[in-house]
Formats: sequence, C-alpha cells, structure tokens
Amino acid sequence: MPDRTNSGTLFELAHSAAEDVFDADTSAGNADKVCAVALSIVSDQTVAYFSGAPGYTKLVERVGGNRKDAQSAITGAITRFLQSAAGGSFTPTQIRDRAYAEHGRGAMNCAEPKVWYHVTSVLRSDPGNWVMIPFNKLGGGGLVYNPPCRNCRRWVYGHFHDLSRVIALARGGAAALEP
Ligand SMILES: [Zn+2]
Repeated sequence: MPDRTNSGTLFELAHSAAEDVFDADTSAGNADKVCAVALSIVSDQTVAYFSGAPGYTKLVERVGGNRKDAQSAITGAITRFLQSAAGGSFTPTQIRDRAYAEHGRGAMNCAEPKVWYHVTSVLRSDPGNWVMIPFNKLGGGGLVYNPPCRNCRRWVYGHFHDLSRVIALARGGAAALEP
C-alpha cells in the first residue's frame, strides 16, 4: 500500500482517482463542477463525489433502498450537520440557495458534504482519518486542485484529516484558507 501519510503521495493518488471519475462521467459538465476525493489514511479506501445534482444522484444510488427515503435521510443529515456550529452554522437559506462562496451554490450543493455523508453514514468512519482533496477540470481537459470553497472551508478542515489543510495551503496558497 502506498504511504498515505505523505502529502505528495496522497495528492497523486487523489489526482489519479479524480481522473478516473471524470473519465467515466457522462453527466453534463460545467466550469464549477468539482470532484472531491477523500482518501483514508488507515485503509486503501477512496471516496469521490461530484458537486451538484450528479453527486447527489450517485449518493442516493449508493445509499440504496427506497429512493425518497434515501433522499430524505441524506438531505436531513447534511442539513442538520451544516446548521450545527461544527458544520458552519449555516441558515436553511444558505444551505439550500446561496451562502459565502463565489459560485453561488448553497452549502449543501458542493461535493464535500456528499463525501462527508458517505464517510460518516455509509461507511460509519471517522472523517478525521480521511484527507479531502478536491479537483476541477480545465477547459483543455486537465485537472487542477480546487480548494474547498468559502462555504466548505467553514467546516472541512475541522472534520477531515489535517493534511487536507496542509495540501490546500501548499497547492492553493494562503488564499485557500481564508474564511
Ligand atoms: Zn464547497
């Protein structure tokens, strides 16, 4: 197993995982489409989700069972989390419609909350053992590191492994950590 405590190794693993996810993607693209990859540092598990509707659809499928039940379980848990102090103290409107991020999506619509739900509720794992590394696809097809947005920064670094913040600083600069 590759060394999952080395930030350079982790970045390469996450980049490769994101490439696979984008290559297999048949949903509509847009400039703000993010693929958030989380790597476990205690196993070889990887979790990856897109932002927006494609990520949500995939998460509903993974939870399985009755579709409406899965949707309400996911939406309920993510909403309760994002309303909590540890989840960023978002209001219901900020969660649904628009909060702090330039992209103008509600806090729920990013890729990171879907990864959080998968890690905590599907895998019943501690996010502190997972490193969050999000990517965006350039027009030319290459992937670039895409630090958590201003919505996600309110909670991502406090929940996922500290290497998430270290990588954000190294790859995105100090601006990637600004509230
Ligand atoms: Zn975000």
